[in-house]
Amino acid sequence: MIAREFDYHAPKTLPDALSLLATLGDEAKLLAGGHSLLPMMKLRFAQPAHLIDLGRIAELKGIREDGNTLVIGAMTTENDLVWSALLQAKCPLLVEGARQISDPQVRYKGTIGGDIAHGDPGNDHPALMLALDASFVLRGASGERVVPASGFFVGTYETQMTPGEILTQIRIPVPAAGTGSCYAKLKRKTGDFAAAAAAVVLRLKAGVVDDVRIALTNVGPTPLRATAAEAVLKGKAPDDAAIAAAARAAMGICAPSPDQRGDAEYKTAMAGEMTVRALTMARSRAR
Ligand SMILES: Cc1cc2nc3c(=O)[nH]c(=O)nc-3n(C[C@H](O)[C@H](O)[C@H](O)COP(=O)(O)OP(=O)(O)OC[C@H]3O[C@@H](n4cnc5c(N)ncnc54)[C@H](O)[C@@H]3O)c2cc1C
Repeated sequence: MIAREFDYHAPKTLPDALSLLATLGDEAKLLAGGHSLLPMMKLRFAQPAHLIDLGRIAELKGIREDGNTLVIGAMTTENDLVWSALLQAKCPLLVEGARQISDPQVRYKGTIGGDIAHGDPGNDHPALMLALDASFVLRGASGERVVPASGFFVGTYETQMTPGEILTQIRIPVPAAGTGSCYAKLKRKTGDFAAAAAAVVLRLKAGVVDDVRIALTNVGPTPLRATAAEAVLKGKAPDDAAIAAAARAAMGICAPSPDQRGDAEYKTAMAGEMTVRALTMARSRAR
């Protein structure tokens, strides 16, 4: 199908984008990389009369370190994440995650902000953000607020963002030196979304788990933080038996929808497999 006709706006500043959004209201949609929005428009699931393209707003792009925080502009592309020397040094989990998103075509245009704002539990950044304890900067007509990733994703295609707000930045605390991490993703083929995936951030102290964060992709209506699995590991040596027990706890919170990637039982089992894989790899990377 062909999308309905729309007017195209390309503001050059954030205040201009916000004022367009305030004026056009429900009739307008923000356009980032377009890789989720345009397919929705072609299917007529979304029929905005106006598109506000964020692509020319320089302040929404880039990756920098500010004290102990990594600050990533919402319009930074997956490809920029993949090739960032700063992220490779300070937050390799994000590089590993971005490398597994779809294919080069999607990664050249798709943005981290669009991936998060879309609220699709099949997208990879939401679980990565939970594991990394990220927070999101939202700018609206009445000012700015910072919302933690935990609690941001409230349902399928539903987030805490309100109409009139723009996600401007993603903030990630720099993981402590020696932190191990891994994103393990099972997909049927290149370019596909996850059948199931697990993001792990692991810190060891004297051979036992000092801190661990585990989050799952595409096995529920939102990304899932596996706190029960984390509790299984905290204060213990992360041996294979403890990792297997944590994976069982992670499987306990899965409620995937059956689709062409498998039925609920298969996807839940694969979430367990991905949790084992991610924890085992994170253990080997932790110092
Ligand atoms: C074939 C294919 C395979 C894919 N596979 C994967 C995959 O494996 N993993 C994965 O994570 N993703 C995957 N995607 C999705 C892809 O990563 C999209 O790029 C992403 O979901 C949306 O980012 P975007 O920049 O394209 O946003 P858009 O499509 O432009 O926007 C998506 C939504 O977010 C809103 N939005 C965008 N930016 C902002 C902002 N700054 N503030 C507020 N709202 C905003 C838009 O209004 C729209 O509602 C795939 C897409 C395709 C087409």
